[in-house]
Amino acid sequence: MSLGRLFGTNGVRGVINEFLTPQLVLDLGRAIGTVVDTGLIAVSRDSRMGGEMLTNALVSALISTGCSVIDIGPAPTPTLQFMVPKLDCVGGVVVTASHNPPNFNGLKVMGSNGIEVPRDIESQIEGIYFKREFNAADWKSIGSVRSYDTAMREYLDAIKSHIDVKKIRRRQLTVVVDGGNSVGSLATPILLRDLGCKVVSINSQLDGAFPGRDPEPTPENVSDLRRMVASINADLGVAHDGDADRATFVDETGRVLWGDQSFAIVASYVLSQKPDSTLVTPVSSGNLIEDVARQAGAKVDWTEVGSVVVSHRIEEIGAELGGEENGGVFFPAHLAARDGAMTVALIVDIMAKEEKQLSDLVSELPTYFSDKRKVPVPPEKKEALLDALLLLTKEHDRITLDGVKLILDDGWILMRPSGTEPLWRCFAEGKTQETAARLCKMGVELIQSAITKS
Ligand code: MG
Repeated sequence: MSLGRLFGTNGVRGVINEFLTPQLVLDLGRAIGTVVDTGLIAVSRDSRMGGEMLTNALVSALISTGCSVIDIGPAPTPTLQFMVPKLDCVGGVVVTASHNPPNFNGLKVMGSNGIEVPRDIESQIEGIYFKREFNAADWKSIGSVRSYDTAMREYLDAIKSHIDVKKIRRRQLTVVVDGGNSVGSLATPILLRDLGCKVVSINSQLDGAFPGRDPEPTPENVSDLRRMVASINADLGVAHDGDADRATFVDETGRVLWGDQSFAIVASYVLSQKPDSTLVTPVSSGNLIEDVARQAGAKVDWTEVGSVVVSHRIEEIGAELGGEENGGVFFPAHLAARDGAMTVALIVDIMAKEEKQLSDLVSELPTYFSDKRKVPVPPEKKEALLDALLLLTKEHDRITLDGVKLILDDGWILMRPSGTEPLWRCFAEGKTQETAARLCKMGVELIQSAITKS
């Protein structure tokens, strides 16, 4: 039985020096080192406040259990993920809170394949943490620490090996990069300069106070990037989240692409390169992705919502591509995890090969409209409601991996419980805004009728 939970959907997160104290990281690091037992662990961090403080606690803890540490310094999460198998590490830990608000920090824990560990390993770490059954190496077996300076170079060279560098160089694109004051600035501007692009950087100084913008690159948060792209007539703009595993794009007109649009552009190209390929994506992805995959002759493999689930499924079935509607792209030939810089490389590669601007690539995609609503649910009924909903929808074509997704002639409806609040969420998509609204209303009514029946 679990003694308590520390891990959420993407690692351990909390407010710096309130929940996420050096003491917590010290004990968590001892628990991680105990589970790993022995071997080399790669460590990195983003630019957040407390990053150095927490990394030092983490490194002390890991070597106290007898593991040794390779510290690659500040870097995007995917850089560390790429280096873990390359350096023959048994695991990796990143001190980051990804796109969370500036006062947060956290830890993401990777296995020997560089992918975040599955839930059963998290439970083992939590079990040792709460029981305080830490390994303590004898004095002759305390681990060592060394820094490793060439991780970024190796990571960027690997990205370039998957794209047509010559063709991109001939295109001479102008790109504005918004690193959001974090580690994306250490990778993407250098990558693009290597690709012959003229690069203009904003929010490029690493600063844990995040003076430029919020770490989440939502359309509302990237208005400076949009203005800059339009005012200097750049070909595109890109903004990363706090640990640069995601990329948000702006086309040459200053318009922000929805995450599923950039994902669909990549999917359309990558999947058409290889017959009978497979795309892994969560049930929250919409018709656009399904249409694009079908046009490319690929199969769609649905998963529960969450990037870690997508990564593990990609590895399990050997899929060619993965993606999420928030703009997370997984290109397993390079890394079976979300990777912001790899996504940028694929987008400029496609622009160069197709000889098109980003807005042209977007306009070629089918258009869908969506609607989302929340339905408050009494906490005691939040779980029980699912059975009633399954009964109510049993005549429909549906996917029941995570909540209930109804596949209808004119669109789809996804109904899922919120992970944190006493409510269910309803998403719907259709060919017109009216259809999306009507389907979403139908979903809300189904949830309400399931409440009365549960
Ligand atoms: Mg992230």
